Amino acid sequence: MSGRSCSGLSAVWRLAFGLTLAFALPSSVIAADLAEITKLFRSGQYDKCVEVSAKSITESEFNENFRLLKIRSEMELGRYADALATLDAALKRFSTSIELRWLGREVCLFNNQLERLTQFDEEIAKMVQQTPWRYSDSGSRLVVGRFLLKHGADPKKVLETTFSVAKKQQPTFAPAYLASGELALDKNDFDLAAQSYEQAVKLDDTDPDAHLGVALAFAPSDAKKADAALKLALERNPSHVGSLLFLVDEHIDAERYGDAEKVLAQVDSVNPLHPRSAAYRAVLAHLRNQEDSEKQYRGTALKFWTTNPEVDHLIGKKLSQKYRFAEGAAHQRQALEFDSKYLPAKMQLASDLLRLGEEEEGWKLANEVYATDGYNIFAHNLVTLQESLAKFRTLEAEGIVLRMDAREADIYGQRVLDLLKRAKQQLTAKYDVSLNGPIIVEMFPKQEDFAIRTFGLPGGAGFLGVCFGTVITANSPASQDNHPTCWEATLWHEFCHVITLNKTHNKMPRWLSEGISVYEERQADTTWGQSINPLFRKMLLGDELTPVSELSGAFLHPPSALHLQFAYFQSSLVVEYLVEKHGIDALKKLLVDLGQGVTINDALARQAGSLDELDSAFSEFARKRASEMAPDADWSAPERPRRADAALLTEYLKERPTNYAALQRLVKQLLVEKKFAAAKEPLETMRRLYPQDASADGHFVLLARVHRELKETPQERAVLEKLAELSDDNVDLFARLTELTAQAGDWKASRQLSLRWLAVSPLQPAPHRFAAEAAEKLKDHGLVIDSYRALLLLSPTDVADLHLKLATAFQQSGDLPAAKRHALLALEEAPRFRAAHRRLLEIIKASESPSQERNP
Ligand SMILES: [Zn+2]
Repeated sequence: MSGRSCSGLSAVWRLAFGLTLAFALPSSVIAADLAEITKLFRSGQYDKCVEVSAKSITESEFNENFRLLKIRSEMELGRYADALATLDAALKRFSTSIELRWLGREVCLFNNQLERLTQFDEEIAKMVQQTPWRYSDSGSRLVVGRFLLKHGADPKKVLETTFSVAKKQQPTFAPAYLASGELALDKNDFDLAAQSYEQAVKLDDTDPDAHLGVALAFAPSDAKKADAALKLALERNPSHVGSLLFLVDEHIDAERYGDAEKVLAQVDSVNPLHPRSAAYRAVLAHLRNQEDSEKQYRGTALKFWTTNPEVDHLIGKKLSQKYRFAEGAAHQRQALEFDSKYLPAKMQLASDLLRLGEEEEGWKLANEVYATDGYNIFAHNLVTLQESLAKFRTLEAEGIVLRMDAREADIYGQRVLDLLKRAKQQLTAKYDVSLNGPIIVEMFPKQEDFAIRTFGLPGGAGFLGVCFGTVITANSPASQDNHPTCWEATLWHEFCHVITLNKTHNKMPRWLSEGISVYEERQADTTWGQSINPLFRKMLLGDELTPVSELSGAFLHPPSALHLQFAYFQSSLVVEYLVEKHGIDALKKLLVDLGQGVTINDALARQAGSLDELDSAFSEFARKRASEMAPDADWSAPERPRRADAALLTEYLKERPTNYAALQRLVKQLLVEKKFAAAKEPLETMRRLYPQDASADGHFVLLARVHRELKETPQERAVLEKLAELSDDNVDLFARLTELTAQAGDWKASRQLSLRWLAVSPLQPAPHRFAAEAAEKLKDHGLVIDSYRALLLLSPTDVADLHLKLATAFQQSGDLPAAKRHALLALEEAPRFRAAHRRLLEIIKASESPSQERNP
């Protein structure tokens, strides 16, 4: 469509650089009239706007703006043929207008007169070249800028030489800020877009386009701000199609399909043939598995401009956001067939393919986009990420391709691979799934890299891992200094998504996928996955329970991190309820139904009763579960001053002996006062009231501290062992308990605990040291070797000693060449190391008498 290069482009450039300043404003008489018509347009009274502008045109033939507004209103209303007639009449009167021609491009597209586009382009170029003075007003500069961008000019230069000049020339000219906002959005530069649109709003608060721009710019980062801006746009203009469609988009993301339909009906009342509106309807039809109606809507979307690449791009993009990456990719390919230069489709296709694990083509396309459009932030991010990924190490086994930072792979890569293999074996069997291609797992030491690989942009700090079906991305422990989590639980969770997404061909609501993953975490290990706690209990019993039909939305814009955690927990509880009430087979059948395209409501109705029934039955189940947690405890906040001493708290507890928070405060106060023995009694009351309290200041942790202070070591260990049954990522607990078990010579326990510690902190030397010690005592040569190898990488002090220990372990495991190599390495570090000399001699001797090699 814009394939031909434009001969006048360089001349247009000269204009952009060299123009002198001049103004072209309408006279004040017409200005009043124009303001009124503009007001009609901006408030969405398009019919009226057409009518009044038509009248004004007959009265005042020489005002181009009336005609522009008439055309724009007709386009808004979908009266494309009328718009064309207005355009042609206007061109006769204003034969030198570049603004009419620029707007005319769109009019011609929707009237299928594609040949005129080239003509307009050539005319614009020629006119600007021949009479530059005529196009030196701010409005024309914006046309020139947009024209240059359309023809592939360098965006930064365009910004400097057209939009910025217009701003300087007329600092209160809001459309100039709209133009730069539009450009920034196009490049995914959301910060710059936000600045530009906010400035446009400051200059002219009445334009819904400016408010919508703010909403679009904040949508990826700040949902509240985006929603507020959208509200303002729709207040200015309730028929603002761009804003309505943005709302539709949000509803679809949150699986509020009924609400989306309602807003689409509003769009229909403005323009029943809007291409994007029809595209969204095609998406909804696809999600309902209504193939014919999907085709029909896509046809409507392409009715006037038959090769509009935006239609398939939009359909595909929404499908990909629903995890239908394969279907989404097919639509992007179709969009590119319509217009091979349509970069949004190429970018989206690149991202789809990377999520499908079709990496070669995905990276190739990302690089192509970047080469064409160096300002595209998605493309830039991806291409930069590709460089750091190239340094990753790949470990492969049993259909799993694991990529990690090379050093991390050496330290604990094999453990990760083993965990994934186990997840694959158990979960494929449980859910009757066979995986065809390899599953790609990437672990990122830098959170930002994880975010870019996962979302295309930095951010997403709340996510530990994400699964796309065949590709899993996760944060490695290296990025979790402050709040280390159990990577084993995370990967198990993500692998469960692989299972459910493959079983349903990615056709499942978000809540169900999350719910099953958390549920399966708890099934695999009772310490994994979210479990009930006082905060969740309060939310379950209060108004925070989300109806099942709206659960997916709860993941989208949670008001707080706690709410997001609660969404996971509640979803897992729904799954637990389904399995308890209807059995695991019903859950599996539900997944089969979804995979065949049955909607979640219908699938639930078939396997577990209607959604409404599920809502009420589940709500009862959840409340029961909540009230069973510590039923005798009083959870109210004690009305006592913050600095209440032990005596005051004891007095308070006489009246309210089961007040958990007061008990907790009393214990802490007694610890401050060093009255350790006295703390035992309230701690026992706490334990009786809430036996499962695994929190950082729960009774287990506090009682362990009391025993430690009183040097009651066996009791301390017993308490910590109870806590270890409830917690998967309490590193303080693992550190202390590993130490205590090692001190007691309980090497089996010590080995198990050090391994659990490593499931959280594999990049800390301490757990490797404990693992090595326990493994040596237990003659677990494999673990000895792994641990000392890890220590060599993590803590390169005593290198000679570590090599000697490795030499010994290899000798004992029968690998004499490796043993010899490490003995020599020890001597290389410390040539006078006697023990190493002795070890080397022994190894050489053993090598010479093979019969004895297993008996050093
Ligand atoms: Zn998940």
